[in-house]
Amino acid sequence: MNHVLAADIGGTNIRATVVTEQGELQQQLRSQIDLGDRKLTEDALIERLATFFSGILNDKPDIKAVGIGFPGFFIGDTGVLVASPNLPNLHHVALAEKLSHELNVAVHIQNDALCAAIGEQTYGAGKGVRNLLHVTLGTGVGGGLILDDVPYTGEGGMAMELGHLRVAYDNAARVCGCGGSGCVEAYASATAISARYAEVTGAQLDTRQIYERAHHNQRDAINIIESAGHYLGIAIAQSIKLLDIKTVTISGGLTGAWLLLYPAIMTSLDAELIPPLKGKIKVHRSILDDNAGIFGAAAIARVKQ
Ligand SMILES: [Zn+2]
Repeated sequence: MNHVLAADIGGTNIRATVVTEQGELQQQLRSQIDLGDRKLTEDALIERLATFFSGILNDKPDIKAVGIGFPGFFIGDTGVLVASPNLPNLHHVALAEKLSHELNVAVHIQNDALCAAIGEQTYGAGKGVRNLLHVTLGTGVGGGLILDDVPYTGEGGMAMELGHLRVAYDNAARVCGCGGSGCVEAYASATAISARYAEVTGAQLDTRQIYERAHHNQRDAINIIESAGHYLGIAIAQSIKLLDIKTVTISGGLTGAWLLLYPAIMTSLDAELIPPLKGKIKVHRSILDDNAGIFGAAAIARVKQ
């Protein structure tokens, strides 16, 4: 038995699952966690996480390693949280080490989007490649990069802030949550798609409802999803020109609209890429979907336990 406990932590909830050596998910557990409390202290964060994980581990003495995807920036595989957009008070917290001490098992933590990239490369649509660019489409747009089989975090944990690549420069460029304008996140995130749809039609719908309308040939819905794919393609093309990566995987709710999204992305790639790269890039929809981060967390727990 070589099972690990893998978790994906978001702004408001934790999902945790026991993952077998064969990559099967067992006993999915979900719990609320409030990381929206911007005054959360280091000790309070560790206590909340330790309480959640010890509640699971107490019944499972055979589990010796925990892997966690966390919404924050980590340098390499140190498990040190440099910063998190959700928790502006916290800097340089030895999160993996402290949790390991509390739980008495090995704990490995990595950025959530990078975990999703590791999951795709280990178990999903990027299986078998040594270089992978993974894009997560959620309330924001995130990116994870595997270079020569190694998850890449950059010098300060800030590599692959793909959502904030600038893709529009005109006066109408949309304002982004980061304070800038024209970022791809302002066009292709779930939040942006709902906002753009409301601006055009006056109706407040979520992305699933919007792509259902697109599938029923509603022109405004189609335009907004194709526009998201267009801008996403520009951001991916800029990344590829820098990195020379041939395989891209994409996960997140918006991939439900893949039949519209994919051709728009590929048209942009064709327009943006220079000849030696043109036509050489494979873009795959995730086969792990919501579980990409969980599989990545299992992979980091397993490699280093
Ligand atoms: Zn931005």
